[in-house]
Amino acid sequence: MRRSTVLGRLPIRPSDFVVEIGAGPAPFMYTKLILDKYPLDNIERYGDILNVAPIIKADAVKLPLADKACDVLFVSHVLEHLDEPGRFIAEAKRCARWIYLEFPTARRELMYAWSFHRWLIEIESGTLVFYRNDIPQLFGDFFHAHYDFLLDRWSEERFEELNSYLYAATDDLACTISPTSAMEHVLERGARGDRKVNFPSEYGRAGTTGVAYSPGARLKLLAWALTPGTLIRARNRLRRKRNRSRRRRLGQALVARLLCQRCRTPALRLERGRAGEEIACTRCHQRYTATEGIFDFDL
Ligand SMILES: [Zn+2]
Repeated sequence: MRRSTVLGRLPIRPSDFVVEIGAGPAPFMYTKLILDKYPLDNIERYGDILNVAPIIKADAVKLPLADKACDVLFVSHVLEHLDEPGRFIAEAKRCARWIYLEFPTARRELMYAWSFHRWLIEIESGTLVFYRNDIPQLFGDFFHAHYDFLLDRWSEERFEELNSYLYAATDDLACTISPTSAMEHVLERGARGDRKVNFPSEYGRAGTTGVAYSPGARLKLLAWALTPGTLIRARNRLRRKRNRSRRRRLGQALVARLLCQRCRTPALRLERGRAGEEIACTRCHQRYTATEGIFDFDL
């Protein structure tokens, strides 16, 4: 199943107040607010955040959201980046009723071995188990260096083999940090010697491959293959420029759902300050200003 199919089947309504944590170039379609620790810095993601909703700079372990302020927290490929995932889970329970979590499977982590993934995460009997990530980059450099649209399509068709996902009530979330490291965990599980299995290839026997690529996917591949690289790069530059100039603005209704990071009270108000729009706390008088249209709540 492809990611778009998985997301399309989630019981989330367009009217739900969905807060996305750590969005990127492919945000969720119903996201109303984006929270990100590094909104202008793409070191730990593959491109700019797409401006589908207002963006606030905040830390995942100190969310600027009032208690149960959102219907759904959408958290895709963020958990494995966090130093203290347990503190984030506690915040998620406080702020949201439901949560969507997505992170790489062990298989994908072994393929790429990203330098900034602190954890390998498994879902074991409904509990999120965090294994401290010490996986070496055995062939990660190969996959990173040779990533192209064919591999992108290959990965998209194998979303469920390469990514774990979970949609749950936050009350049901449980997590634990394993004393076993990620590498020990992977070695324990993998077959060795004559216990290894050789799989017969579907390629050739089934005509093309084991995966039934849709006619749409095949056409898209063909279009990409025939389009000159210079045209694709020019389109990407234009999209990036347009996206950066189109920040979504925060409205009063959205500000009312936020929590002051200093006094932890939902008493915030949008005001016109000396340097443009500001958010002020009516209780402790803390003021929040914006840079490039992004308010800083990472106090
Ligand atoms: Zn305050």
